[in-house]
Amino acid sequence: MAEAINTFQIIGQEQTRKYWNTLIVSGRFGHAHILSGHSGVGKDALAFYIAAALNCRAEENKPCGSCIACRQLQNLEYSALYLIFALPRRSASQTDPFAGIKESEMDLINEELSKKIAWPYYHLQIEGANDIRISGIRKLRKDIYLSIDPGTTRVVIILRAHKMNIEAANALLKILEEPPSGTVFLLTTEYLDRLPDTIRSRCAVHHMPDLNWELIKNDLTEKKGLNQVQSEICARMSMGDLAAAHTFAEQDNTFWLDRIRATLNTLAGSDFVSVHKQVLQLKDKELENDESRQQFLSLLILFFRDVALQVKDGETTLWVPQVQQMIKLFPNCNSHAAIQAIERTKDALERKVHLQLALTALFFELRKHLKGQTL
Ligand SMILES: [Zn+2]
Repeated sequence: MAEAINTFQIIGQEQTRKYWNTLIVSGRFGHAHILSGHSGVGKDALAFYIAAALNCRAEENKPCGSCIACRQLQNLEYSALYLIFALPRRSASQTDPFAGIKESEMDLINEELSKKIAWPYYHLQIEGANDIRISGIRKLRKDIYLSIDPGTTRVVIILRAHKMNIEAANALLKILEEPPSGTVFLLTTEYLDRLPDTIRSRCAVHHMPDLNWELIKNDLTEKKGLNQVQSEICARMSMGDLAAAHTFAEQDNTFWLDRIRATLNTLAGSDFVSVHKQVLQLKDKELENDESRQQFLSLLILFFRDVALQVKDGETTLWVPQVQQMIKLFPNCNSHAAIQAIERTKDALERKVHLQLALTALFFELRKHLKGQTL
């Protein structure tokens, strides 16, 4: 399957792909599947890959990536592919999901789709596209019971299927209960539990594991031309989300390292005033929005993980000297408790608690954990 690997630019997931190849070849292939997993692990890319494998004209090593079916699928223009995703509500039409969408808006939607074609990990960003409504599913039902060329497998891909509202889900359920022949449904979602039980029980659920950060790092070095430090910081900040990592890669992230270093220096010192100063500095200048706060705290968690693992040169490019200095200064550091404290603060900030208070409380708690003191 050497050729097949990069047809849809899938990163990692060798086991998943092997599993699907075996399943498709075996012919014991159900008609409805849910691909679940965290954001950015490659669920949509896998769905396109499966659609191509089912329709590829090559004798073996499907999807070949070069036959007419593979190429059309890569361009999302295969006639037996039905791609469903959330659209803005511009009319009350119950049968046409595109009703009322202006030409200029349609151009923007097509632009988003071409980004998805260029890179299947891309998250469509369509303004006002909050849910998948019944019009989209009714339109599908109108089309998919028509006859189809022999040797073709009709593939319905529903992106972020948890965005289906209840009416749409019920309409889909009816189709799943009486599926048209030669049709495969692939629903992708990062929130499996938001799909109704009735849908879940009609589908085979396949979980895609998280991506190892080293895979993401290599991808960033290769595709974005980042240096080792930059690609590692983006990869680790992304928490296994390749799409997020690529977004981080658009900006310079080395300043995060400086923030972490400055914070650690403050924590290591015994001076209370400098803790308050550091909190104010972070609050006023560096952590302006929710996203940056979460990133900063995520990185702080990564740092304490590396302290717990006692990472050495070669295992990370980010902060080996700082990790070793911490271990030397604080041999009794309770990294586990420190990580828990940071996670609690992340949670609290999502619930919009007062930033300055939350950080001050966290930093004083971290000082205790560094010394291995119980609270
Ligand atoms: Zn092919």
